[in-house]
Amino acid sequence: MILTRKIQIIPLGEKEEIDRVYKYLRDGIFYQNKAMNQYMSALYIAAIKDISKEDRKELNRLYSRVSNSKKGSAYDKSIEFAKNMNLGYVVKQVKQDFANSCKNGLLCGKVSLPTYRKNNPLLVHVNFVRLRSTNYHQDNGMYHNYESHTDFLDHLYSKDLEVFIKFANNITFKMIFGNPHKSAYLRSEIQQIFEENYKVCGSSIQIDGKKIILNLSMDIPKQELELDENIVVGVDLGLAIPAMCGLNTNDYIRQSIGSKDDFLRIRTQLQSQRRRLQKSLASTSGGHGRQKKLKPLEKLKDRERNFVKTYNHYVSKNVVDFAVKNKAKYINVEDLSGFDSNQFILRNWSFYELQQFITYKAAKYGIEVRKINPYHTSQICSCCGHWEEGQRIDQAHFKCKSCGAELNADFNASRNIAMSTDFV
Ligand SMILES: [Zn+2]
Repeated sequence: MILTRKIQIIPLGEKEEIDRVYKYLRDGIFYQNKAMNQYMSALYIAAIKDISKEDRKELNRLYSRVSNSKKGSAYDKSIEFAKNMNLGYVVKQVKQDFANSCKNGLLCGKVSLPTYRKNNPLLVHVNFVRLRSTNYHQDNGMYHNYESHTDFLDHLYSKDLEVFIKFANNITFKMIFGNPHKSAYLRSEIQQIFEENYKVCGSSIQIDGKKIILNLSMDIPKQELELDENIVVGVDLGLAIPAMCGLNTNDYIRQSIGSKDDFLRIRTQLQSQRRRLQKSLASTSGGHGRQKKLKPLEKLKDRERNFVKTYNHYVSKNVVDFAVKNKAKYINVEDLSGFDSNQFILRNWSFYELQQFITYKAAKYGIEVRKINPYHTSQICSCCGHWEEGQRIDQAHFKCKSCGAELNADFNASRNIAMSTDFV
């Protein structure tokens, strides 16, 4: 399956270099589309005149060579293809578009001859956008400058993720990912490219206003998995039970993942260790002793950070496994970004990361993650839909004041989340 993603890219360099890149792209796009229109018209005329097979071959040969080729070319002499761009792609694209419109009735006048408008993107050879290989000499392609893959993963969902493309004609682009929330899918796909699970294909570049947009195409291996469009997993994220999964179609099947105890115990332990160390550091003035003591503090901070991450990997894997097991096409999670105070986000950063992990793990199976409005999900009865305050008796128990149903409170919430269509 081929998937194409739009990504903004910006050329690295000073103004002069940036001007050079824009000119290269604009000219390249202009001449490419002019050439494609010339070839398209030629194919059309050849088809109408019903020329011989030999003549057709010769025509294709003439259009497979750049305008200044010594062997002869049918393109207008004024056409200057962008340096390093691949004419083979252009030829293939025109042939394909022509064949398609013939199928749709071009020759009996049902559709008109396709034309390439001036904003039709520049076709880019796979060699300039695929993952740069370290195994053999290959200068062009996608790369990052992080020290290791782990280091890259640490930055994957951060604002300053830096991935570059060493492009044709000595151009280097930086990819712009923007808001980590909104670009979560894209970021996980970039990860798949770096982990060599997705293969980059021939792509294209267009200029949209002043922005340069890369239409990055990638080949995604098919997962043989049958999912049911009607089945939705609801995930209730909480502290008592880190993740409770329920289904919209079943009032019995559930899975609680992790426990309050293991999560909080280890985390609090690490935190108090760090605090003790920080306190003792505060009373130590400069000198070698301080430097020596800073190291274990860094180590503890690392452990704290990695603990949450490892834990999130564990929880997200189990959520996705639950969805796979139940053939669910969708996973609904609460959109916690609505609680937009800085403090909340800081305190709950691990939830955010957890959602990112669920999203990219689910994507591998073609399961879609949707965010829903968290409002009232814990106060509605999942059996009869009755809403009234005070139905959640305590952290663990829910009792409906209308139908009398008694349920585990987190499971009740997870089912409401699964049934919700209040998408964000
Ligand atoms: Zn009820």
